[in-house]
Amino acid sequence: MSAARRSTAAPGRSTATSGRSTATKRQSTATGGSSTRGRSPLGVDLRRRLRVVPGKRVDLAKIDPSESFGHAKDEADELLEAGRLRLESLQERLWASKGGSLLVVLQGIDTAGKDGTIRHVMTAFNPQGCSVTGFGVPTPDELAHDYLWRTHRSTPAKGTIAIHNRSHYEDVLVVRVHDLVPRKVWRQRYDQINAFERHLADNGTTIVKIFLWISRDEQAQRLQARIDTPEKRWKFKRADLAERKRWDDYVAAYEEALTRCSTDVAPWYVIPSNRKWFRNVAVAEILADTMDGMKLTYPPAEEGIESIIVE
Ligand code: ADP
Repeated sequence: MSAARRSTAAPGRSTATSGRSTATKRQSTATGGSSTRGRSPLGVDLRRRLRVVPGKRVDLAKIDPSESFGHAKDEADELLEAGRLRLESLQERLWASKGGSLLVVLQGIDTAGKDGTIRHVMTAFNPQGCSVTGFGVPTPDELAHDYLWRTHRSTPAKGTIAIHNRSHYEDVLVVRVHDLVPRKVWRQRYDQINAFERHLADNGTTIVKIFLWISRDEQAQRLQARIDTPEKRWKFKRADLAERKRWDDYVAAYEEALTRCSTDVAPWYVIPSNRKWFRNVAVAEILADTMDGMKLTYPPAEEGIESIIVE
């Protein structure tokens, strides 16, 4: 546990005492109330750099999955700790204020690190006020409804955060790659998804969509590690190799989803994720900057209580 973590104090106060002045300043500002956007401890505005600009065509071949913006692994623990402290504090304000809700969509090709991201970053959140929903092969009940039904049932209530580990995007990804519905059906879904997300946003949900981008070689190494490590073997399925053969189809499906569904109210971020430490730092930072943008403040206290002495 780092110094910054140990120093956590009451919400609303400056808490971090990390030796790195940038991280300290950032945490202080985050808990103090004013915006910290664009003042990354990494020295780059990751939210701006990694966001898919609405309307711009995404070409994943042009995005280096090993990018770390000049930063080194030995800085990562401290940066991640600073990010988690911000998230912890911001979630407290969200819970207290009930000033909206946050939906985090996590997508990535197999082994991209969705579970690891939840384990390393989202643990900043108090479980009271945060849910994680995994979206697997639809159940018969889910298939009997429209594809957005199960997503809508798991969207966050006011004051809370919902993390979707896979999401409604599977309905334009695996469904498209495997022809699970006719082409003319999935082709309509991009507009439907944008309309759905717009509806959520108009009703108080802030949406942030994270795509973890790894290279094909990195996936090979991670799958091999699962086979070679007895404790990880349970994660490996032969079907993973069949999916890997469809790498190019998945990349094409992702490119279209990222291109057509990154909007001002529900932006996509492409996170270079070959380096797990960078992935974690980047996701923490983008989430914290997004929550910062929600302008969350504590609700007013009852009038005149400052002078009360509890006997
Ligand atoms: P993960 O691979 O995320 O750890 P699982 O092993 O439970 O989790 O895999 C979930 C599987 O469910 C994935 O293969 C995914 O493609 C599939 N899936 C998710 N949504 C759908 C959908 N709408 N239609 C068909 N398959 C889906």
